[in-house]
Amino acid sequence: MSHQLSIMVHTPAHSGIGEALTYTHNEVLAAGTLVRVPLGKRETLGITWSSNDAAPQTDLKLRAITGVLGHVAPLSAPWMHLVEFAARYYQRSVGEVALAALPNQLRALTSAQWERKLKRPTPTANHTASTVNLPQLTPEQSEVLTQIQTQRGPFLLFGNTGSGKTEVYLRAAQAVLEQDKQAQILVMVPEINLTPQLEARFKARFAPLWGDACLVTMHSGLTPAQRMNHWLAAHTGRARIVLGTRMAVFASMPHLKLIVVDEEHDPSYKQQEGARYSARDLAIYRGHLEHVQVILGSATPSLESWHHSRAATQEEGAGRYVRLLMPSRIGDGALPAVRRVDMNHQPRHTIFSEPLLQAMRERVQRGEQVLVLLNRRGYAPVLHCKDCGWKSECPHCSAYRVFHKIDRSLRCHHCGFAQAVPRACPSCGNLDISPLGRGTEQLEEHLAELLGDFKRPEGQAVRIARIDADSTRLKGELDRQLADMHAGEVDILVGTQMIAKGHDFRRVSLVAALDPDGALFSSDFRAPERLFSLLMQAAGRAGRDANLSQTSPCEMWVQTFHPQHALFEALKQHDFARFAEQQLQERREANLPPFSFQALVRADAKTQSAAQDFLNAARELADALAVQLQVDVYPAVPMTIQRVANVERAQMLVECLSRKALQQFLSQWQAQLHTMRAQHKQVIRWAIDVDPLAI
Ligand code: ADP
Ligand code: ZN
Ligand code: ZN
Repeated sequence: MSHQLSIMVHTPAHSGIGEALTYTHNEVLAAGTLVRVPLGKRETLGITWSSNDAAPQTDLKLRAITGVLGHVAPLSAPWMHLVEFAARYYQRSVGEVALAALPNQLRALTSAQWERKLKRPTPTANHTASTVNLPQLTPEQSEVLTQIQTQRGPFLLFGNTGSGKTEVYLRAAQAVLEQDKQAQILVMVPEINLTPQLEARFKARFAPLWGDACLVTMHSGLTPAQRMNHWLAAHTGRARIVLGTRMAVFASMPHLKLIVVDEEHDPSYKQQEGARYSARDLAIYRGHLEHVQVILGSATPSLESWHHSRAATQEEGAGRYVRLLMPSRIGDGALPAVRRVDMNHQPRHTIFSEPLLQAMRERVQRGEQVLVLLNRRGYAPVLHCKDCGWKSECPHCSAYRVFHKIDRSLRCHHCGFAQAVPRACPSCGNLDISPLGRGTEQLEEHLAELLGDFKRPEGQAVRIARIDADSTRLKGELDRQLADMHAGEVDILVGTQMIAKGHDFRRVSLVAALDPDGALFSSDFRAPERLFSLLMQAAGRAGRDANLSQTSPCEMWVQTFHPQHALFEALKQHDFARFAEQQLQERREANLPPFSFQALVRADAKTQSAAQDFLNAARELADALAVQLQVDVYPAVPMTIQRVANVERAQMLVECLSRKALQQFLSQWQAQLHTMRAQHKQVIRWAIDVDPLAI
């Protein structure tokens, strides 16, 4: 007998095909079973979405399922629920989110290939457990762990850099894994390359207990085969720990018992294309769905999470998380003293003030290391001609191309367009074209000049290195450079925010931040939050070795034209709470998130007016609904970088005091937008970004 089943396949969000498709099969399959189905002229992977016979459709000629990927458990009901929620919340199709959450290779396997794959031997679980020496917990760590064991959470672990948060994750994980021999835990990190220590520490702790195969990673750096194998290890329950980036929030883990989100404030938890989900927010939802504890950890929490962890008040959102505090550094390592250099009192065009240079020399002389942070890569952001005013604009974008001296190229960081630097000004022929402003590449060069005469204790020249997206483009290069730093083969490390993240540099005693002022007056209301967090993170790289910081008190230097700014005052006190309350007060007064909820609708078109016309037409269409649900829809505006790769970009902000009303509005409006699209042929694509991070 033939049954009709609902099968979810990957349909593009805008294809107009609704949700699950109906196929026939000679038996009923459990919901969550993976199948192969014909779709148009191809065959594709599908997920059985409901085990009941689909509503019988008699008027259609239905096609049959061509294969079942059997011999493994179906995807779980909570997993399917998570996917449905994510699709609905971020205004995408369920099929898109569901299939994107599975490894690519799985999508291409035939049933025969699948069965061969399953037959291959997997790492055996035969492993003799050996013991691991655990450090004695500090009182703060013990207190926090007691709270985790006795409360439901979700938790926001607010702990200084070096306060021992990772040890808390490890202990909480171990407790769960020991209590239930099947339990699995999910640990999420922003960018795996930047936090290699975390993976190493989880391995060192748990491999002796349960073997190497107990932990798998999930991130975009894996080969398709690795991703497939790791996914399968998680899905079958063989892997007890999954450590991964944002995509790991969708890992199929049938025995999930704990979720940890490290550095929860990090913007890379937000997916920036397709379904623009926040993996942190989905982790909270998943925890709720599966009755699993969630621990968010950070030294500088996002203001959303900070607000959610405030004592319950009348204010929406407050009281949702339990805030756990770990203010002290392990071994009483002191946080660096913050010194501000007032650049108004320095000679014009000073890059390194003399007192900072002197401090750097002293550190290097004592065999210590220095970090110099400048969040702009390349040699100079613009090349210009003083005679005629020509600037190195990108012909395809409304942005300047960045001068990279190392290969004498002008490269657009938005569309990738690159050309050799012209010999003379392309506009007037002047031979004297020069860089304007500076990036890390120039900083490294300039520093080498300034310290040219300076010698290390053993008499050699000072060793300067640079880490940024350019210096680490080749595979393995970042690891190598970090290893040099750890081995003490570098005295001064220049870099972008890449050097500020979780590295445990033991001999860094001075961190300098150059030119942070841009973010103080940015039009993006989240810029100060990001800057504060970056500077706190960077400061946290210094003084991680308590012995070192006793003999040589560590320091963070900030060169700024606004030394009195409240942000730097709070930084000086290492007072995140004060900074957060200030910011939240401003946001409350301006009705900004977390006190309101936002979405952006973006449109790309051949002309700016076509993009804006589409958005404004959509706005008119939504008028009555917006009034009814008390949603504000603002007029369309060009995006900050209006043109990228010859595509004009516009956006429109949607804002509401209620998350629920906003959701209701978006789901109704979205359907209208799909139909409207036909009348706007010049629109290349459009998308909704719910809870956008950059406006
Ligand atoms: P965080 O994750 O908060 O930055 P870590 O967990 O990395 O802090 O801890 C900082 C350092 O202190 C690490 O080298 C870690 O091994 C060590 N550490 C953590 N907890 C303890 C403890 N209870 N006793 C001794 N050393 C500890
Ligand atoms: Zn010129
Ligand atoms: Zn460009």
